[in-house]
Amino acid sequence: MIPAAPARLQPRGWQALWRDAIRDPRELLSLLGLDTLAGVSDAAAEAFPLRVPRGFAARMRHGDPHDPLLRQVLPLDEELRPVPGFSLDAVGDAAARAGHGVIHKYEGRALLVATGSCAVHCRYCFRRHFPYAEQTAAAHQWTEAVETIRADPGLHEVILSGGDPLSLSTPKLAALTDALAGIDHVRRLRLHTRLPIVLPERVDDALAAWLSRLPWPVAVVVHANHANEFDSAVDAAMARLRATGASLLNQAVLLRGVNDSLDAQAALSERGFAAGVLPYYLHQLDRVAGAAHFEVPDDQARALHAAMRARLPGYLLPRLVREVAGEGSKRPM
Ligand SMILES: *Cc1c(COP(=O)(O)O)cnc(C)c1O
Ligand code: SF4
Repeated sequence: MIPAAPARLQPRGWQALWRDAIRDPRELLSLLGLDTLAGVSDAAAEAFPLRVPRGFAARMRHGDPHDPLLRQVLPLDEELRPVPGFSLDAVGDAAARAGHGVIHKYEGRALLVATGSCAVHCRYCFRRHFPYAEQTAAAHQWTEAVETIRADPGLHEVILSGGDPLSLSTPKLAALTDALAGIDHVRRLRLHTRLPIVLPERVDDALAAWLSRLPWPVAVVVHANHANEFDSAVDAAMARLRATGASLLNQAVLLRGVNDSLDAQAALSERGFAAGVLPYYLHQLDRVAGAAHFEVPDDQARALHAAMRARLPGYLLPRLVREVAGEGSKRPM
């Protein structure tokens, strides 16, 4: 009789790694040797649960309560403090929905809220309060989203966003792109995703095969806020994505205590480039309730950006922008 191969010898698929994410703040802190950290909040974690893939946690520095990756995911008391000007729908998404899961704010581009799920929960995220679960484009087999796009010949670019669109299975994504392939006015596809950074195993053979055979030029906009988010597994994921022919860009959010220094920003651009990723946007924080402690004042953001311009080659300088509800593009600062 031939014994079955022990399961642990098989490489674990991304879905298993996804399910195995850390969800208990105490477990995360104890892994980092930080059992007694003041300001960590159960109530904040109840409002928006902690979620961190183990591979991402492994990139955090042991014993450092100020670790820039840890600060992005740790639920804190400060989130519960109401701050004037910080609201639930900071970017006006509720008003901009054109159909189920389709947000059409900018000319020529439609954003599909493909799913509400993410592999990591980022404390600064404007989506933390948005009831996306009921309003995702995938909820009805994509039909309504695809019909919304088909009905508007001015839409040339479809942007898959969320949540994180790569939290959907590859067959589900392929069903969408198969349907979109029948629409002549669609010319480009873009993905906005944090998964290749926080769970690089997501970039598996099936995903690469799907991307390679898409009929349009593809841009993949990943989301890393700090150079330490890159490691050899992320490098391998980026190389695979590039091998599909996709253009790789990074967007980051300017976050106090995470990446609000010249050195941190320069390192992010340079580390991204080493992985084959060019900087795209550096977003000024959306003023969403619970995220006020991450805000960098506009003056400081502009001064930082000017210093980045002096230090970095032009192609490694992200555009500093803010999203303003009702405007036809991101607003350059
Ligand atoms: C940010 C955003 C886009 C993309 O804007 P670009 O400047 O093209 O990157 C498109 N639609 C919506 C609703 C957005 O919020
Ligand atoms: S949408 Fe992006 S920024 Fe927001 S929680 Fe998900 S991965 Fe993080």
